[in-house]
This record gives sequence, structure tokens and C-alpha cells, in this order.
Amino acid sequence: MPDYDGIILGAGHNGLILQAYLGKAGLRTLSIDRRPVAGGGLATVEDPRYPGFLHNTHAFFQRAITAMPWYGELELERHGAHHLEPELNVALLTRDGDALEWWTDIDRTAESFAHFSQRDAATLRRWQHAFVPIVRDILVPESRRPPLPPEERRAALSKTAEGRRLLEVSALSPLEFVHQEFEHPTVQAGLLFFNGLREVDLRAKGFGHHIAALLASPAKAQMSRGGSAALARALEASVRESGGALRLMTEPARILVENGRAAGIETTAGERITARFVVSSLNPTQTFIDLIDEPFVPRAVRDAARGFQYNLLAPLFALNLNLRAPPRYRAAAAHPELAQAFMVIIGLDHVDQFLDIVRHHEQGTIPPTVMWGACPTLFDPSQAPAGHHTAFMWEKLPYRLNGDPANWDGARDAHGREMLQLWTQHAPNLADAVIDSFTRSPLDVERCLPNMREGDLLVGAFTNDQVGYHRPFRGAGSYRTHIPQLYLCGSSSHPGGNITGLPGYNAAQVILSDLGAPPARR
Ligand SMILES: Cc1cc2nc3c(=O)[nH]c(=O)nc-3n(C[C@H](O)[C@H](O)[C@H](O)COP(=O)(O)OP(=O)(O)OC[C@H]3O[C@@H](n4cnc5c(N)ncnc54)[C@H](O)[C@@H]3O)c2cc1C
Repeated sequence: MPDYDGIILGAGHNGLILQAYLGKAGLRTLSIDRRPVAGGGLATVEDPRYPGFLHNTHAFFQRAITAMPWYGELELERHGAHHLEPELNVALLTRDGDALEWWTDIDRTAESFAHFSQRDAATLRRWQHAFVPIVRDILVPESRRPPLPPEERRAALSKTAEGRRLLEVSALSPLEFVHQEFEHPTVQAGLLFFNGLREVDLRAKGFGHHIAALLASPAKAQMSRGGSAALARALEASVRESGGALRLMTEPARILVENGRAAGIETTAGERITARFVVSSLNPTQTFIDLIDEPFVPRAVRDAARGFQYNLLAPLFALNLNLRAPPRYRAAAAHPELAQAFMVIIGLDHVDQFLDIVRHHEQGTIPPTVMWGACPTLFDPSQAPAGHHTAFMWEKLPYRLNGDPANWDGARDAHGREMLQLWTQHAPNLADAVIDSFTRSPLDVERCLPNMREGDLLVGAFTNDQVGYHRPFRGAGSYRTHIPQLYLCGSSSHPGGNITGLPGYNAAQVILSDLGAPPARR
């Protein structure tokens, strides 16, 4: 009898969600993770020099988490999760002291757009209206189930007016969509920034619908009370309640394949743990090249795993601050509501900056700074000692700085100082408010979470041949692999990275259906 029904490699949020569903269906599971805490990108750390100052070193903005099916089904609020969704969701601060604002209320967003261009405000409403049913009836359901082969999907979409509209708009690139539909360069820049949050190449045809979909989505950015790790702790509690076991600081050396099927793992400490099935939330390079003995991986699969592309534009550089006071923006003199802005974007005024940023990433050099971040303690004082604050800014910067990621270790602190300088131009009180700071480079991200290869926080590029049915590679979007009883459940699978939990959720449904078990819903 095997030690477990299922072993899950990696206890990030996708692995934990999958494990909780399997546990609810009565299966005995073990997840293993190399880190001392579970949660992967849902990480919150305390500043070792200043106790009580908490920093979210990876994911912070969680889009639509409370609307995800697993959030309710796994009863995460009973397990301690709590999310906040500030009304002034995103504010782009321009050099001349103005602000373009996205509110949870579309009327207030349109009002802000109108301040820049009446025509763009009307266009925003038109696209928002057109895409509400497309998001609700097509895109959201598609993200919550295994993807269809592209020809089948196209045929199904061609049958309805909304499906045809989606196909038509997605034929464009995000850049074409923005230039075709909107006129003001700051509005265009702000919209492309949204596209950038999903790390899609703004020049890639096939993704023109992304911006309209984000505008129409009822789901805005949310944050976890207590820090992002609070959501990880709730997921872990749900896993443990359903009988699941976790082993931390444990790494797999290989996935065991016996009689042509996945049969368990061997750890780097030499322990064999057997199971009826194995699920990997790691990337295809780790799963198919590092962990499976070569004879069990056909050449075509090895080549596909070796050829898996990571996002050029995803790597993030972070500057984290402990503060005596929250950043007070100059622009708040004309826009007092900015005192309660959630995500703040700085350094972005004109759409043309994007092509410059792409060029710098291709060359491995640092572009003029465009950064975004938040002051979490404005909304959740529990993340700093009483009367104090934390804040952070992120910037997309190349992984291979001047051709070599190792250059980051020498360049990190100087770049953090440059970011603080720009931030202080917009929020002059930062000159006296900083108690402590630290930076994290794209290389630090990869060191902490090696599945985020090349610092790619989405664990795989979104290109036409790595999305949907073809994520992680051609025809491999079913969560099953060429080895029976070996499955995938991480961000390298549909619908991809970020905190959505949907790769884990979808994989759980596939595994339960293969086992003939009823779906693990309450
Ligand atoms: C700086 C930064 C900021 C981000 N901001 C946001 C944000 O605001 N919003 C958002 O939605 N997303 C954000 N992300 C992205 C998000 O964190 C990831 O897309 C998400 O965590 C992926 O989830 P996952 O469960 O697939 O993988 P992970 O969260 O990476 O979990 C994988 C787990 O596998 C473990 N692991 C890796 N290799 C091994 C191994 N060899 N052996 C054992 N265990 C292993 C890791 O330790 C980890 O616990 C950010 C990421 C970074 C780096």
C-alpha cells in the first residue's frame, strides 16, 4: 500500500488549493516544499532589524480573490482569511501633479478619464459595457476549467455575437487596441500598464482583448489583512483540517516512475515516499528535466520543456520601506482622495515609454524608472507597529543586468536609492520619514522561488504557443502529462501565473474525475 494517495511538489497557493480539494474528497495527501514556510509567492516577512514591520516580498495585489470559487468552497474566512478592496483602486500620478484614477465604481473612473479626454471617457464606457458579458459568460468560465483545443474554442466562440466580438478584438495586439481606440497619451499609457500587470507582450497579436477585459471585470485589486501570508495560513489550515500533511524544508531529487506510472518521489535526503499519483506545481524545466530520469521522458517532451519560454518583462525589483508616516503625495493638494489611493503608479506619463522599456529589457539595461506600489498600513495598521507604516515600490527590470544576473548583487542598493529619489519627488515627506529600507532584485526572487526561473513571477511567458490548451507546451494544457498518474498544477499551466489559484483548482477537478471521485465541493 503506498504511503499516500497523492504527493504534491511545492506548497505555493496552487499546490495548497489542490491539496485541500483532494483532502475534502477523502484522499490522503502530502505536499513538500523546500522553504521553511508554505505559501510560495504569498509571503510576508518581518524586518529582522525592526520587529513589527511586515513586508510582502512577493505577491501583494490579489485580483478578485474573494470571487474565486475556491475561496468560498474551502471556507477560507472561517480559517482566518480577510480581504480588503480599497475604492480608489489605482492612481497614476503624472509628472505635472495630475492623477488618472481607477475606482471600484466605473462612474468615478470615467469622470477621471474625462478630465484627460471626454472622448476617452466615452470609449471607456463603451468597452466596459461591451465586455461585461464577455468577461462574465466567456472569459471567467474559460479560466475555471481545462482549456479546449484552439480550433474547437474558435468554433464555439463563432456561434455567438459575444464570442465573435472577442475573437475580433483579440486578433489585435494590446498596443494596436489602445492606439486604435483611445487618444490621450496618458490614458493610453495607463491602459497599457494594466496589460503589463498581466505581463503580456504589448506587441503580441492575440491579446488585444486583455485591456477591455480588465476594464470590464468587476474584480479589482484586493489585499490580505495581516499580509499576503495570511491567505497562505488559511489555505494551510484548510489543508490540515481535511487531513493533508505538509513537509517543509524538503526537496524532491526525483519523481519515481514504476511500471510506466508515477509512483512517488525520492527526496534529496534519500527518502522514498510512495503514492498513487504525483502532482507538480513546479515549472516544466524542474518537472521534466531535473526530476524525471531521462529514459522516461521522450525527446519531444524534453525538447518542449527545454524550449519553455520565461517572460522577458515579468521580473520585478522591489524597494521596501519602514516609515514614520505614510507617503504624502504632492498631487493630493489638487486630489485629496489620493491620501487613500491603493496602487500608486509613478513615472509613467506617455504611451511611448513602453517601447523604450521593452528595448531596455532586450538589452539588459535599466530604463528610466516607472514604478508602482502601495502603503499597506493605510488600510491594515496591523502590518507595522502602532503609528508607523510600511510601503513598497516595484519596477520591471531585466533579469540579466548587463548580460549577467549576478550583477544585481552589486547594483541593487544603488538602484533602490534612485527609486527612493523619484518617490520623494512625488511624496516629499519621505525625505524625513524613512526608518529602514531593503531591496530585492529579480535574482533574489529566483533564489527564493526557483520555479520563478529568470525571475519570471508568472512562471512562463504568455505567448500564443504557451497559453490555454498549449500551456505549458503544445497540446499539454490538460494538467495530465505523458506519464500516467503524473499531473501539473502550477502557474506554468492554464490560466497561468499570479494569485488566482485556478491552475490548482482546475487540476484538482481533473484528478478527481480521473479517479472517479465526486467533485470535492460542499
Ligand atoms: C516580487 C513579486 C511580486 C508579485 N506580485 C504579485 C501581485 O501583486 N499579485 C499577484 O497576483 N501575483 C504577484 N506575484 C506573482 C505570484 O506570486 C506568483 O505568480 C504565484 O505565487 C505563483 O503561484 P504558484 O503556486 O504557482 O507558485 P509559487 O507561489 O511560486 O509556489 C511554488 C512553491 O514551490 C516551491 N518550490 C520551488 N522549487 C522547489 C523544489 N525544487 N522543491 C520543493 N519545493 C519547491 C516554492 O518554495 C514555492 O513554495 C508576484 C511575484 C513576485 C516575485
